[in-house]
Amino acid sequence: MSASDPKGNFKPQDAPRYDDVLQCMRCGFCLPTCPTYALTGRERSSPRGRVALARAVAEEKLEFTEAVKEEAFFCLDCRACTTACPSGVRAGEVMEICRSQAHAFYPLGKAGKAFREFILRKMLPSPELMETSMLPTRLYQRLGIQWLVRHSKVLKLAPEWMAKAEGMLPDLEKPLRTQLPEVVPARGEKRGRVAFFLGCVMTLMYPGVSRQTVRVLAHQGFDVVTPAQAKCCGAPHLSEGDRETARSLARFNIDLFLSHDVDAIVTDCAGCGAALKEYEEILEEIEDHDRLALFRSKIRDISEFLAEKGLRTEGMRQVKTTVTYHEPCHLCHAQGISSQPREILRRIPGVELREMSESSWCCGSAATWGLKYSEESRQVLERKLGNARQTGAEILVTANPGCQLQLAWGVRETGQKQEVLHLMELLGRAIPD
Ligand code: SF4
Ligand code: SF4
Repeated sequence: MSASDPKGNFKPQDAPRYDDVLQCMRCGFCLPTCPTYALTGRERSSPRGRVALARAVAEEKLEFTEAVKEEAFFCLDCRACTTACPSGVRAGEVMEICRSQAHAFYPLGKAGKAFREFILRKMLPSPELMETSMLPTRLYQRLGIQWLVRHSKVLKLAPEWMAKAEGMLPDLEKPLRTQLPEVVPARGEKRGRVAFFLGCVMTLMYPGVSRQTVRVLAHQGFDVVTPAQAKCCGAPHLSEGDRETARSLARFNIDLFLSHDVDAIVTDCAGCGAALKEYEEILEEIEDHDRLALFRSKIRDISEFLAEKGLRTEGMRQVKTTVTYHEPCHLCHAQGISSQPREILRRIPGVELREMSESSWCCGSAATWGLKYSEESRQVLERKLGNARQTGAEILVTANPGCQLQLAWGVRETGQKQEVLHLMELLGRAIPD
């Protein structure tokens, strides 16, 4: 086996790069950072073990077995191991790629395949279809059926994942995408023009968060362009091993956003930000490098953008409160953004930040992981909520909708007395109308 013949027992399409698995020197620095290793104590469920499995497949010492498939999906893709690794090994990304291999080696049955393809290839790429698909859920809430369901014993009969998914639902409003003006003008002295990437979960589940993000950007002196045609960033596709659809969404979004003359493309969703920044990598063999680099150079998480530009605090209202901050994995580990949200929090008048232990430890959400592995997810969440509780802070702040759904569900379930907010919702409270 050589670096020039890297596929081994992998299928040729979307195989992990041999160089990437070769870097591991088995030092074990990653082990204490890995939630699935902490849960199981099992080497194969650690970053080092997972990389060893992938390397064995690449070196034709192992077939792509059920065990490799299981580890690919059991990995949270939280990237904590990437932050810890002195050799730059990215075990989470290797496992993400192995998920597409898993679908090639172990194809679903007819019905499962049709369902998967409908969700990933028809529904998620279509903002209209996604909005329509949420209508029954909004009716379920509006007509009081949710109240009846929650106050009866019926959910006890449902599978655990279904009961959790129901319990996680926030109060749904009309999707934001159809309500946001195409351009929201800057307030006060103008500092530039940005495009806002409105994520799918944001528009459908947390329209109030993104409404605040746009309001904050305008208050900070930026014209905000929100292209309503934007499609899903492709993060769910990468996570579910459909790299082909992720690439086609990436190409669409690059064309769309580069057609706007803006200084930056801003997102308030850590998962979207990480996926948008990875377009360069997933398209490197098929797209023009300069366009990819230009697109990549414009992507900013909202906290990264505000910290870079300097938060204007003149005229802000006092928000007298204590907060603690949970770092979304796809912000701190995937994008290296850790100090910026704290910087913003410290600058909001009246806010006292109380650091929690293990702030960058995963909350156990991780796209659909928290539903597939509901018991393990509950254990990971308990650790997080315990750390948040110990701070005594009134508000638990985060910066990613997946974390927000999981944390909000956790505090409701356990009766923990903490409000869960996105950073932009908190900052929005300081901004006068
Ligand atoms: S993945 Fe990195 S940190 Fe973990 S054992 Fe290998 S080299 Fe060490
Ligand atoms: S990405 Fe997270 S769960 Fe996966 S191996 Fe790394 S630390 Fe463990």
